[in-house]
Amino acid sequence: MPELPEVEVICQGLRPHLTNRIITTIYYSGKPLRHPVPFAAMDEMLCGQTISTITRRAKYLLIATKDGTPSRSCAAPDARDTRPSLAVIIIHLGMTGNLGLFPLAAPIKTHDHVRWQLDNGLELRLNDSRRFGGVWLLPPEQARNLETGFFAGTGPEPFSNLCTPAYFMAIAQKREQPIKTFLMDSKVVAGIGNIYANEALMAAGIHPARKACTLQEHHWQRLIPVIRTILTQAIACGGSTISDFINANGERGYFQMNFQVYGRKNQPCHQCGSLIEKIQISGRASYFCPHCQHG
Ligand SMILES: [Zn+2]
Repeated sequence: MPELPEVEVICQGLRPHLTNRIITTIYYSGKPLRHPVPFAAMDEMLCGQTISTITRRAKYLLIATKDGTPSRSCAAPDARDTRPSLAVIIIHLGMTGNLGLFPLAAPIKTHDHVRWQLDNGLELRLNDSRRFGGVWLLPPEQARNLETGFFAGTGPEPFSNLCTPAYFMAIAQKREQPIKTFLMDSKVVAGIGNIYANEALMAAGIHPARKACTLQEHHWQRLIPVIRTILTQAIACGGSTISDFINANGERGYFQMNFQVYGRKNQPCHQCGSLIEKIQISGRASYFCPHCQHG
């Protein structure tokens, strides 16, 4: 499942190719993803519109269109055309989703479900074999109120100033759940998945099964910066490996991070040589060093 750094890298990779491009045509396989794909609304609202920004929020990619752009297919203006602008497409990659930019003539693959054709001879394609991903279209009134609407249940970004020890401690004081599960709760903080929760707790020396409510201020003072550092390193790592999104081959094996604990059961800890252990916490694979993570 793509985690925050991967979505951020995709976002940064697509940005130079999509910004200021006009969406000319949209194609849809007709197969539902996690929810029905709002194809008719996208076709109606987006064709002929110019893309203004590509951003990320949590593990979602947001493609916004610009105000005051030409109407559909650059045909003669239609006086009745009252389509609003500044809509936002929101894409979630689910388990197996992938976004790539392809020349129009590139062969279509089996699981290419949505294709947004652009005026630069390229096409943004969403490929998703298991179809757990999602595409939403927010009309302008909803697009203007993302934080109180679509993202109302989503916690702040890990890089946000809102993520302070006091913020986490206020929520955690009522939580008996393991700290690792707490960090992966997107209502608490957005975008920390299983891999980076494991790695951040190792870097902070905190046992992943420790109850969230028992963490003191000094724990959070250690944990918050290491979460940011690890995510930043992962973004840099992905960004340096993906240099060009055109002809992207649809593979996602580009995060060759040197994990300290994740996936390293029974291998020696890089810090102390103890063997990394693996346990299940809230049904998720959890790796830790029994010596380094006693806190
Ligand atoms: Zn160790």
